[in-house]
Amino acid sequence: MRELETIVGFEHVRVPGAADLADATEWSGLRGRADAVVLPGSPEEVAAVVAWCYAQDVPITARGAGTGWAGGAVPDGGVVLGLERLHRVRRIDPAWWRMEVDAGVTTANVARRAREAGLYYPVDPGAAESSHIGGNLATNAGGPHALKYGVTRAWALGLEVVLAPGELVTLGGPVRKDVAGYDLVSLLVGSEGTLGIITGAWLRLVPAPEAASSLAVACESSRAAAAAMERALTCGVVPAALEFLDDGAVAAAAVGAPAEVPPGGVLLLADVDGDAVQVARDHDALREALEGGDGVLAVVEHPHRADREALWRWRDGIGLAVVAQHGGKLSEDLAVPTDRLAEAIEETRAIGARHGLQACSWGHAGDGNLHSTFLLDAANPIQRARADAAAQDLFALARRLGGTVSGEHGIGRLKDGQLRHQWAPAAVAAHEAIKRALDPKGLLNPGVKRP
Ligand SMILES: Cc1cc2nc3c(=O)[nH]c(=O)nc-3n(C[C@H](O)[C@H](O)[C@H](O)COP(=O)(O)OP(=O)(O)OC[C@H]3O[C@@H](n4cnc5c(N)ncnc54)[C@H](O)[C@@H]3O)c2cc1C
Repeated sequence: MRELETIVGFEHVRVPGAADLADATEWSGLRGRADAVVLPGSPEEVAAVVAWCYAQDVPITARGAGTGWAGGAVPDGGVVLGLERLHRVRRIDPAWWRMEVDAGVTTANVARRAREAGLYYPVDPGAAESSHIGGNLATNAGGPHALKYGVTRAWALGLEVVLAPGELVTLGGPVRKDVAGYDLVSLLVGSEGTLGIITGAWLRLVPAPEAASSLAVACESSRAAAAAMERALTCGVVPAALEFLDDGAVAAAAVGAPAEVPPGGVLLLADVDGDAVQVARDHDALREALEGGDGVLAVVEHPHRADREALWRWRDGIGLAVVAQHGGKLSEDLAVPTDRLAEAIEETRAIGARHGLQACSWGHAGDGNLHSTFLLDAANPIQRARADAAAQDLFALARRLGGTVSGEHGIGRLKDGQLRHQWAPAAVAAHEAIKRALDPKGLLNPGVKRP
């Protein structure tokens, strides 16, 4: 610790506290261990810390805000390298639709600063007020509006990264197109701190949409919701978001719910955005496509800003409302081909029943991304064991439906070893070879994102 203090200053090295050793999966009992927390104040200090760790064979766990859902920021010894002091918006170029930020700027701040410049950063993972843009990049975070706008990777023009054994490099930058080398920006995005430490990023922005509007659609079953979704996606409109919540998820947050959902039913939320004329046209086209469909019980319109904002605040609170039911949950983030979504929702419930657990699901329907969830009392070891077994069935379900075990949260520690059941051996070998090439000593977040 004394040697690290000479790099970052005495007050920026400390003994780890409970909050440094867990992330949003803490309810699952996942808690790590670490020898020191180091908070560098500049990219150069990050490089010097990594160089010191690499020379001393000390593991390094990069930490953003610790809102991850996969245990990726949970350390396994060594140094927790927190990026929170790197929180500067370095520059914003409104005319050129781009922004350069430190890795520790929060997602909400990126969006706010873009909005103040008349621009839009559309990636909106649910913990945006806390999560760092560096964490979003490291997990390739998604969120409701990924349907129209894509996930974080689509918005990364360039990265400033510290690579082993402690080299600060810039990949890409303000340039909008660059195919000169292998796409190392995309490789680093989603690498969960296992290939390098992101210290800064150039982000692409777009002009802010002038208007937006939302619809809430109650359907009597997941099959009816799937049919409604198909109509929504074939009516000539590109929805900005298309979310679903089953009856269990809606019931958990009954206060403020935008529509009633019957037992076994599903709620769809659809968003459109653009210029005011287009939004009015798209809103009407979507409503017509959804109304009167078989099994559609109600279409509730939310055209006004205050209503929309209340709707999305309610939606953002679903995860916490579900946890509040029994004090804990096990939630996986499968993604399946969109035409298999109804099966995945029904199977989640059936898997829960088989293991004696109450189940519900919600998620980003337009992207086929489910948060398949089992409710449990985290302090009850029998329920925990059942939930772990149920999660294995969920992973098998994702594979059987031609999907993936993680649509947006990553492998982290919680899905250790799952990728090798999903990928061919040669693809797994390529994954491992990349890790060896960029982290020959295996010190960058050891034990995370292992295939
Ligand atoms: C209520 C709630 C709602 C959520 N909703 C969504 C959602 O809709 N979509 C979604 O995708 N996710 C969602 N998440 C998960 C989480 O917010 C995202 O994964 C987010 O991107 C994590 O950012 P963070 O700064 O908290 O990263 P952390 O949790 O601190 O770290 C996550 C991983 O990234 C690595 N890492 C962090 N910073 C860096 C860096 N600078 N360089 C290299 N590696 C780094 C860590 O080592 C770790 O492996 C939600 C979480 C919560 C609690």
